[in-house]
Amino acid sequence: MARAALLLVGSEMTDPGRPDANGPYARARLGELGIPVVLVARVEDRVEAIAAAVRGALESAEVVIASGGLGPTGDDLTREGAGAALGRAVVEDPGWVAELTRRVEGLGRPLTEAGRRQALILEGSEALANPAGFACGTCVERDGHLLVLLPGVPREFRAILDTAVMPRLALRFPVRPEVRVVRAVVAGLPEATAEETLKPWYGREGVEVSILPSAGVLHITYTLTAPPASGLGAVEGEVRADLARGLGAHLVSLEGRELEEALGDALLRRKATVALAESCTGGLAAHRVASVPGASRYFLGSVTAYANEAKRDLLGVPAATLQAHGAVSAETALAMARGARARFLATWAVSTTGVAGPDGGSEEKPVGTVFAAVVGPGYERAHAFRFPGERALVMRLSANYALYHLWRAVKEAAP
Ligand code: ATP
Ligand code: MG
Repeated sequence: MARAALLLVGSEMTDPGRPDANGPYARARLGELGIPVVLVARVEDRVEAIAAAVRGALESAEVVIASGGLGPTGDDLTREGAGAALGRAVVEDPGWVAELTRRVEGLGRPLTEAGRRQALILEGSEALANPAGFACGTCVERDGHLLVLLPGVPREFRAILDTAVMPRLALRFPVRPEVRVVRAVVAGLPEATAEETLKPWYGREGVEVSILPSAGVLHITYTLTAPPASGLGAVEGEVRADLARGLGAHLVSLEGRELEEALGDALLRRKATVALAESCTGGLAAHRVASVPGASRYFLGSVTAYANEAKRDLLGVPAATLQAHGAVSAETALAMARGARARFLATWAVSTTGVAGPDGGSEEKPVGTVFAAVVGPGYERAHAFRFPGERALVMRLSANYALYHLWRAVKEAAP
C-alpha cells in the first residue's frame, strides 16, 4: 500500500499553533485513493532543512507532497532544497515560461526576472500547470517514489492537487477494489498489555495497525487491504475474533463506539439510569456521559463534591467515614456512589475521589492515588488506582477508568 508524507514549508509554518489548510485537504483527497498520510512535518525556509526533510520523507513514504516556498521571492527555496536532496539542478520549464509571458503580457506587463522564478522546476521533472496562480508545481519521480512540490497558497495548492496531482496518483496507485476497517475501542488496559494481542499483526501483508492511546482508552484501527484472492472477509473475521479473545472484557467495541456511547447502549438495553458523584474528576466523567446524543434517556445527573462538607451534605457521606478513612479512600468512594444513587433514584452510580496533584499527596496516598466506586442493584465495588502523570492526565485517567468499571458492571448485570 502506498503511503504519503506532507511537508509544510515556510518559516511561519514552524509555529505549531499556526493553522494548516493544506495538510487536511491533501489528507482527505489522498484518503479517497486509500493512501494514508504517515508523516506531516513543518519545515523552515532554509535549503538544508528542506533537503533533509525531503530525504527523510522519501524514506518513509512513496508519495511526498510539499506545500509552500515556490513563489518569486528569495525566501522561496523549496525547489533548491528538493534539488539538493535529489542531486538535481533547478531549471526553467520553457512551456511554463511561455505561459507566464503570455499571461503577464495580457496584463500589459513584461515578465520580470523574479516572475520567471515561478517557472523553475527540477531537472527531469514535470511542470504542473497552476490554474489559480503563477508558480507552477513540480512532479518528480525517484526510485518509484513521487515527490510533488506545490505552492503554499491554499487556493493554488488545491487547484493543482485536484487538476494535476490526483489524476497522476490515481493512475500510479489504483484504488484497491476493497478496503475494510476494524475500529477497536479498548478501555481499562495499559497500552503495553494490549500490545501482546496486536503484535502478531504487525508487518503482515495487507494489514495496517494504528494505535492511538488516550488516557486509559486505546483506539486501534486495522485497515485491511489484503489481495482479494485471500478473502478480505476472512481476514476481517480473524482480526475480530483475535481482538475479542485477546482483549476480553476490555474490548468496548469493534465499530469505533466510544466508551460513553457503549455505556449508554448498555444502560438503555436494561432500561437503567445512572448518576455520578465526582470529586477529583471535577465533572469530567459527567461531561463524557452527557456528551452522547440521547443521554437524557438514562443520565439523571451528577454532583461535583470537592470539599468534605459537600461530600457530607450533598451526598450523605457519613462524617465518621471521612474521619476514619479520609476523603481519598475506598470507603468514601463507596459512600459517595451510594449517596448519588439514592438521591437521584438511579439504577447505577459511579464516584471518583483521589489526589490529582501536584500537591496533596502523602506517603500513604501519593499523587495519583484514586478510588472509583460503582454501585447498582445488588452490586457494590470500589477500585483503587495509582495513576502516573500530572494533574490533567490523572483527572482524565480517573474519569475513563471510572466509566470503564461502570460500563463493565452494567454490561455484566442481568439484562
Ligand atoms: P507565494 O507565491 O505566495 O510566495 P509560495 O508557494 O511561495 O507562494 P508561501 O510563500 O510558503 O508559498 O506561502 C504563501 C502564503 O500561503 C502565505 O501567506 C502562507 O502563510 C500561506 N500558506 C502557506 N502554507 C500554508 C498552509 N499549509 N496552510 C495555510 N496557509 C498556508
Ligand atoms: Mg512565498
